[in-house]
This record gives sequence, C-alpha cells and structure tokens, in this order.
Amino acid sequence: MYDFAYHKPSSIADAVKLLTDDPDAKPVSGGMTLLPALKHRLNQPTALVDLSGIAELRDVRREGDALVIGAMVRHYEVATDPQIMAAIPALARMASTIGDTQVRNRGTIGGSIANNDPAADYPAAALALGATIVTDRRSIPADDFFLGMFTTALEPGELVTAISFPIPEKAGYAKLRNPASRYSMTGVFVARGPKGVGVGVNGAGPCAFRQAEMEAALAANWSVEAVAGVKQAPDDLNSDIHGSAEYRANLVTVMAKRAVADAG
Ligand SMILES: Cc1cc2nc3c(=O)[nH]c(=O)nc-3n(C[C@H](O)[C@H](O)[C@H](O)COP(=O)(O)OP(=O)(O)OC[C@H]3O[C@@H](n4cnc5c(N)ncnc54)[C@H](O)[C@@H]3O)c2cc1C
Repeated sequence: MYDFAYHKPSSIADAVKLLTDDPDAKPVSGGMTLLPALKHRLNQPTALVDLSGIAELRDVRREGDALVIGAMVRHYEVATDPQIMAAIPALARMASTIGDTQVRNRGTIGGSIANNDPAADYPAAALALGATIVTDRRSIPADDFFLGMFTTALEPGELVTAISFPIPEKAGYAKLRNPASRYSMTGVFVARGPKGVGVGVNGAGPCAFRQAEMEAALAANWSVEAVAGVKQAPDDLNSDIHGSAEYRANLVTVMAKRAVADAG
C-alpha cells in the first residue's frame, strides 16, 4: 500500500465535489475489487471517497412499475430484501450466487455495475430487464451503459447512485460458476416484461451482451425448446485456461435453457 487521502462524505453532492476537485480520487463502495487493485498497485488514486456513509445510496423502493435499488445496497441485501425477493425473485437468487459470504457482505450492486467485469452477474440482469443506470447527473439505459471490458459510459467523477429495474412478469437466471472464483464462466439472464423479452449474457465475451436471436425466439414462443435451437457463434467470445470460445458458446445455449426453466 502507499499513502492516499481518505474521505467519508455523508451526501452524494459532497462525494461528487470531492471527486470533481481531485480527478485522481476514486470512489470506493465495498472495496472488493478496488482494494486488491490498490494492493497490487494496478490503481494508485490520490484519495478514496468512501460511499458507505451516504444513507440515500442504501435505499430500495418501488417507483411505479420499477424497483429502484441504491448503489450501496450489498449483494447479501439484494439476495434477502423482501421487496426485491417479491418483485424480481430471479435478481435476488442471482445475488445469492455471487462470490462467497464475505464478498456478498461487502460487494455492492453499484460497485459491480460501475466496474463492469465481463464475468460479473449484474450487467446481464440489467440488460435483460431493460434497467436504467441512475447517476448523480443523468439516467443511462443499460443498453448504452456497458461499453466494453471494464468500460462504461460513466464520465470522470460520475457516480452511480441507483439502478432502476422495470418489474418483469417472468425472469430467470442460470450460470456455470468458475469453481475457484465463483465468477460466471457463462451466465444467462432471461426476462419478459414491460420492455418485451430480454436475454443478457455474461462471462462469455469481453463485455456482457444481449442475445438478439434468443430474444426473438422467446418473444415468439416462451419455452425452453425455443432457445434450445439457437446457437451462439464463438466469434469474439473469451478463450482462456478455463474454457475455449466454442465451449462458452455452447454454454450460452445450455444456460439459456436453464434460465427459461428457472423463470417458469
Ligand atoms: C473472490 C471474489 C469473488 C467474486 N465473485 C463474483 C461473482 O461470482 N459474481 C459477481 O458479479 N461478482 C463477483 N465478485 C465481484 C464483487 O461481487 C463486487 O461486486 C465487485 O468486486 C465490486 O466490488 P465493490 O462493490 O466492493 O466495489 P469497489 O471495489 O469499491 O469498486 C469497484 C470499482 O467501481 C468504482 N465504483 C464503486 N462504486 C461506484 C459508484 N457508486 N459509482 C461509480 N463508480 C463506483 C470504484 O472506483 C472501482 O473502480 C467477486 C469478487 C471477489 C473478490
């Protein structure tokens, strides 16, 4: 570790001011990704702006037909919050599969969305459900938010404050976990709701993406059989020691079938 300043503001406005005044400062939510990066000196911010003292970021509320989850809501809370379990049970089940107990107790939905790890779970859910990422200055549709590996539409100093999920009629999720890290080798989130049918895929490519052929197949016929016949092309998918692009392409179909079965 090396020296850096530490701030713990109690409002979004104060946090944004700290980040704007010092372009080399970084927000920290649970520190699950950022602190290891600091220890390895992959990241050397001049200051950390700890978001854990901002009460409004911990809110979970219904807003019309949407469920709005504050950025600082931790994975354990997403998995167990009665409002989330009632409105989008697949999202709660998904959160319960993230990492291990320690990670779920520290990691946050906002940190995960802002980090945009290709193998993270939430981006696939946000894409499939047609979520909107709310920041301190604007609202960004999920389709426009996840730009590439660890890259999002966030501007310097911009904070994710909440994620607004339209409440679906049906949704389901399935992933094959990497047995060591528990991150997704490939995961598929399916949803049918006010914005139509959405199929989001994580872990398979350099960034979470929507599977348009599966969306069309499910829109015509919501069934396991409808996605069973749709093959994902391996082009542009990840290939590493854990699995080839062809293996991951096959997993997209397998996980989509399981996700539709999970949705019922
Ligand atoms: C062992 C292990 C296993 C894991 N397994 C999984 C898994 O199975 N599935 C999964 O999805 N994830 C997994 N994760 C990731 C974990 O769930 C966290 O969500 C992720 O590491 C982000 O952590 P955090 O919320 O603590 O954010 P931090 O580490 O605090 O921040 C991450 C990044 O986002 C920025 N940031 C944080 N909050 C905001 C905000 N509100 N606005 C803008 N920028 C922000 C930070 O500056 C930093 O760059 C795993 C992590 C570990 C260590």
